[in-house]
Amino acid sequence: MPKYLTLTDYAQITGSAPIKRQTHGWRAKCLQRLVRLDMPVPQTIALSFAVVREIATGAQMNLRHLLGHFPKGQLLSVRPSAEHPQWGGPAAILNIGMNDEKHAEIAAAYGEPVATALYLRFVQSYAAHVAHLDPDMFDATEPCLPALQAALRDYEAETEEPFPQSPAQQLADVLRSMARAWEGTSARLLRQAKGAPLDAGLGLVVQAMAGGIGAGESGAGLIRFIDAETGMPQVTGRFKSRGVHGQEAMKNGADVLYLTRDKRGPSLEERCPEAFAELLRHGEFARRRLREEMEIEFTLDDGNLWVLDAVTVQRSSRASVRVAVDLANDGIIERDEALMRIQPKALSDLLHRQVDARTKTELFVRGIAASPGAAIGRVVFSSTAAQACASRDEPCILVRRETTPEDIRGMHSAQAVLTERGGMTSHAAVIGRGLGVPCVVGASGMQIDERRKTVHAAGRTLSEGDMLTVDGTNGVVLIGEVPLLEPALDDRFTTLLDWADARCDIGIRANADTPADARIARGFKAQGIGLCRTEHMFFEDDRLTLMREMIFADTSEDRKDSLERLLPMQRADFIDLFEIMQGQPVCIRLFDPPLHEFLPHSREGMRFLADALDKPLSEITRRAEALSEFNPMLGMRGVRLGVTIPEIYEMQARAIFEATVEVSRRATPIAPEIMIPLVSAMREVELIKSRIDAVAATVRSRMGVDFDYRIGVMVETPRAALRAGDIALHASFLSFGTNDLTQMTYGLSRDDAGRFMSDYVQQGVFPEDPFHTLDLDGVGELLQLGAARGRKAREDLTLSICGEHGGNPESIRFCRELGFDYVSCSPFRVPVARLAAAQLVIEELG
Ligand code: PEP
Ligand code: MG
Repeated sequence: MPKYLTLTDYAQITGSAPIKRQTHGWRAKCLQRLVRLDMPVPQTIALSFAVVREIATGAQMNLRHLLGHFPKGQLLSVRPSAEHPQWGGPAAILNIGMNDEKHAEIAAAYGEPVATALYLRFVQSYAAHVAHLDPDMFDATEPCLPALQAALRDYEAETEEPFPQSPAQQLADVLRSMARAWEGTSARLLRQAKGAPLDAGLGLVVQAMAGGIGAGESGAGLIRFIDAETGMPQVTGRFKSRGVHGQEAMKNGADVLYLTRDKRGPSLEERCPEAFAELLRHGEFARRRLREEMEIEFTLDDGNLWVLDAVTVQRSSRASVRVAVDLANDGIIERDEALMRIQPKALSDLLHRQVDARTKTELFVRGIAASPGAAIGRVVFSSTAAQACASRDEPCILVRRETTPEDIRGMHSAQAVLTERGGMTSHAAVIGRGLGVPCVVGASGMQIDERRKTVHAAGRTLSEGDMLTVDGTNGVVLIGEVPLLEPALDDRFTTLLDWADARCDIGIRANADTPADARIARGFKAQGIGLCRTEHMFFEDDRLTLMREMIFADTSEDRKDSLERLLPMQRADFIDLFEIMQGQPVCIRLFDPPLHEFLPHSREGMRFLADALDKPLSEITRRAEALSEFNPMLGMRGVRLGVTIPEIYEMQARAIFEATVEVSRRATPIAPEIMIPLVSAMREVELIKSRIDAVAATVRSRMGVDFDYRIGVMVETPRAALRAGDIALHASFLSFGTNDLTQMTYGLSRDDAGRFMSDYVQQGVFPEDPFHTLDLDGVGELLQLGAARGRKAREDLTLSICGEHGGNPESIRFCRELGFDYVSCSPFRVPVARLAAAQLVIEELG
């Protein structure tokens, strides 16, 4: 076969168009570079996005032009070429042009088995991807003549047409089906989850099949120079002898060769040392010149090497980080480029938890390990229920027979996905991996009863709301909550984030309520705690009883007495936090939720409480009823409690100050930040501030120690944003609580929005769930107004965001543009935020 070292744009046959990544896709651009690097690339024609779009709409191409560019009878392949390799694309189709006549021709030249293997492979992929027939029907294990004949018969029986014999028709059908597959909903949602824009195009690359069937060492292979999981240097891949030699070898079960020398069997390195050495040279050359780790698809034709394609190695997030850092350390790319190459969201893959193997566990069901990581959550059976859980910040496991594109938002909302059906490439598996959600599929040992909302396996029946642990790394599902190990992060991850910090110009803090959260936050180098929700500290058993006692106190004295007993516990909490954070800022939010959240909800619980408090049950139920509200989220909570029941905030302030004195004595001095929640009027701040100042004065004089502290306001009501000017006169910082602010701006309950959110998003009422993605147009405008008015009143006002949106790269961009000092997000999102913030600076530097 002659060497064709050209790559042409389809339009060049009739007109002319330069090949660009933005118009022809990544693969076409890469092939062009390989050609320029003088690699032996077979003749290739690239179809641009525009041409492929026309094909998808059914436009007829002048295929004679295209085919005329290749020698007559040339077998062809078609591969996808999106703008970014990670945006995927339809499966490649090889051996186009195989038909009965070509089969006879190849059989005469190289033997029937070689011809049959090529033809059968083509029929199989054509049937599955072009004619959309059931792939299992064509899944012959042994490529032999009867299998080929059966496949051709089955094709005809299913489609009522003989297998197409015209190469032009075959090519036209392949191109059309690939162009249309790109427009499908699953493909679109998947690439959008990887950051592709709505109008992302697909290019196609039509290439001459380069031999691989000759008499000498012939065959096809794939070589990588790194381990795709870890990113460590290592030659991996395979080579399959295909030609006459391969057919011989196959009889001995030795047609697949290792690439490097291996005790277990023959290798390409031994059989064809020159071709192997040439491959290594191409690999190194490609790495330096293409500035990437490439995976080279090659063929040997009578011992001659052909490079068919080189794509960036599909790799785990961990490997991506290592490769980027290693390329920068080897001087091949700049550090900034290494930072830009990692999608911030991909970092969270590295942060996956794992089940602690030392723990005794109870197996519920086994399945296929489809997406790594482990997660715990409550069982839900629908995407709507998953979204409702997410809006309540309640972790859930989406359990489905199988998932469909409609489930994508539910999968987004779930901590993990478990399906009864499916395999490694089923919808749930592909989407789960794409989204980085742990996933177990094909758990056929379980039966779901959707009507009763139960799932049965291993003699156990679980209902909606029961706890499960999904281990997507090992493909097992365990009953209840199993202890999880935090992820082990390697030095490349740390290096990358250190480089990010050198660029980052906005602070990144963590929302941390417990010492465990604070430790994680420190481990991820958060620059402090931006939100400590103190109410979480009162839900532990001993404290809960005291809280309830306080809630049911008859007099202010009794209330003080209960709070007096809670004080040492709160103080100890704060001491822990301050010590862990070692002098970094800690922003403590005063008590926020409505009091009745602390009361039992069942009759049984009420009876228990009546016993514990030694009060008649009737009084307990009467008082509980009196505390209940029609709209608790808009009722007696946050600062409203602080104003009406001053003892709670006073106890908290005292605990904070006493902890400050104690820790400052032993370790680094600290200046706590105290944040007032749910403010809507300046007077609320004035009142609370004066009471906190009074507590500070008492602690100072009693303990004989001076200390600093700052008082700030959480902007969570639209009014607080609008009145940020007056509020800032009494607050040294404002932190936007965008969870409540979104709720109140839309008048949309955080806890109930899940019921209709998917309808709203599907019908285009909202572009996204505003509780996940900050609504820049509406809520964003309140942030903008609040920030500007606050800063106008007080130049040194510290501004931040601490709602769930704080870790989202788009919100970080927005807050940075508004001049915010820091963002605060959950500890696991801190690395994502550090990288995203650095990328904004690099982007600006151009
Ligand atoms: C908020 O409302 O944005 C917030 C951070 O507070 P919480 O989620 O505790 O209401
Ligand atoms: Mg809030």
